[in-house]
Parts: sequence; C-alpha cells; structure tokens
Amino acid sequence: MGLFQGKVAVVSGGSRGIGRAIVLMLAREGCSVAFNYVHNTAKAEALVSEVQGLGVECVASQVDVCDFDAVKKWIDESKARLGGLDIVVNNAGVIRDKNLLMMPPEDWHTVINTNLNGMFHVSRASIFHLLKQRRGHIVNISSISGSIGLVGQTNYSASKGGMNAFTKALAKECAPYGVRVNAVAPGFIETDMLEGIDEASREAVLKGIPLGRIGKADDVAGVVRFLLSEESAYILGQIIQVDGGLAIR
Ligand code: NDP
Repeated sequence: MGLFQGKVAVVSGGSRGIGRAIVLMLAREGCSVAFNYVHNTAKAEALVSEVQGLGVECVASQVDVCDFDAVKKWIDESKARLGGLDIVVNNAGVIRDKNLLMMPPEDWHTVINTNLNGMFHVSRASIFHLLKQRRGHIVNISSISGSIGLVGQTNYSASKGGMNAFTKALAKECAPYGVRVNAVAPGFIETDMLEGIDEASREAVLKGIPLGRIGKADDVAGVVRFLLSEESAYILGQIIQVDGGLAIR
C-alpha cells in the first residue's frame, strides 16, 4: 500500500524535470495525479502513459499557470475527474537570466508571472477546498536563489524570495485548518533548466557544492514525499534546502 494511496494531487509543470519526478513519486505511492504544462504535449502524454502503466489515474492539461481563469477551470475539472484534492505542488517555473543592466522588462514579467503569480493562481484556486475539508498540503518548489540571491537572477531571485514569504504567511493562515504548507529550495538540479550552462560555469558551480555533485530531480522528489508524509507532521512553513550544501549559512 502506497504512502498516498487514495489521495489526489495536482502538480504544476509536471511534464519535465523536477515536476515529472514528483508526478512519478506520487504515482508510485498510489496517488492520482493531474498535472499541467505549456508546450511539451508529447512529453506530457508519454508521462501520462507511464503513470497509467503503474495502475494510477493521471491527467495532463495544457494550461498556462499565468492565466488565472484557465488555472481555476483546470483545478475544478481535475478535482471532479479524480474525485477530490489533497495535495498541491507548485512546481512550474522558468528562468530568464541576465544582469539587471541588460534585462528587458518582458524577462522580468515572464519570470514573476510564471513563478510567483502562477503559484498564487494554483494555490488560490485550490485553497477553499483544502480548508473546507480540513486537511491537505501545499508544497512550493522554490530555489536557493530566493534566499541567497544569484548573479543574473534578480527576476528569478525575487520570484523565489516572494514564494518563500508566501509559504510562511500561508502556512500560518492554514495551520488552524489542518492544512500544512512548506517549500523545498533546490540548488543545482540536472534538468533542462541547466541546459544553457557552459562547461566552465558548471565546473565553478561544482566547486561550490560540498557534496561534489549536481543534484537529481529525485533528490527533490524525495524531500517532497517527506513533507507530504506524517513523518513531517510537525514541520510547517519551512523552506528546506536541497542543494548538496551549496547555500549552507
Ligand atoms: P524544467 O525547465 O525542466 O521544467 C519546467 C516545467 O514547468 C515544465 O513542465 C514546463 O512545461 C512547466 N512550465 C513552464 N512554464 C509554465 C507555465 N507558464 N504554465 C505551466 N507550466 C509551465 O524545470 P525544472 O524541472 O528544472 O524546474 C522545476 C522547478 O524547480 C521550477 O520552479 C524551478 O524554478 C525550480 N528549480 C530548479 C532548479 C534546477 O537546477 N533545475 C534549481 C532550483 C529550483 P513544458 O514542458 O510544457 O515547457
């Protein structure tokens, strides 16, 4: 019997990378999953087949997290189709790295709209249901960039710093209703997001990681599982770093 047998989860940005690893982790634990994506229909459909092969219900929807009406419809339909909602994972995110001096306003707005406003949209569309049933979880996928700040990422750091503050405030709002809110802040994780990094920068990054390796998407998914489980029942409003020690303070 899986850890989340009979539960229902929604995961934003589930088609690739960390989101995909979280969808598979949930499915292996018996949880039905609805996830969204924006571009990669082929990857989304392949993941749905893989999850269904595990004997678990899975639905993928092409929904932009930046569009609140579309997100609301997606959450309502997922809830109806899968028979409830217990777990919300805000994972969809993008980078548009540039020093501020060279940053066009559209790169600022794209990152804030996707990472920060997207999280608000998905959480806002789900929260009434979670509070009303007096149980459930929200886990936000943040970044160490949100707490330490990284060069070239003023937009991304601001979005993730906002996500961290949102996590703490919402955790306090929801705790009296039995709903726990926490976040995971990955360091460097091997996904498409790191594709643009050249070999020299990768070497420099590796030098700063005490554990001496880039993380795997499953390193993040494992901590999400812990935060959703009863083993973390007394953890609330925390931003758990999963970074091989990169941002130890
Ligand atoms: P990827 O680029 O590999 O995947 C991003 C996912 O988000 C895809 O499924 C993508 O869908 C989806 N997505 C992007 N924009 C939207 C949107 N507007 N609406 C709906 N879905 C969207 O990223 P990662 O897996 O690396 O990152 C996942 C999360 O982890 C992000 O929040 C990121 O900031 C965070 N993170 C990642 C780190 C890393 O080193 N990789 C480090 C720290 C944090 P589609 O396939 O259709 O494009």
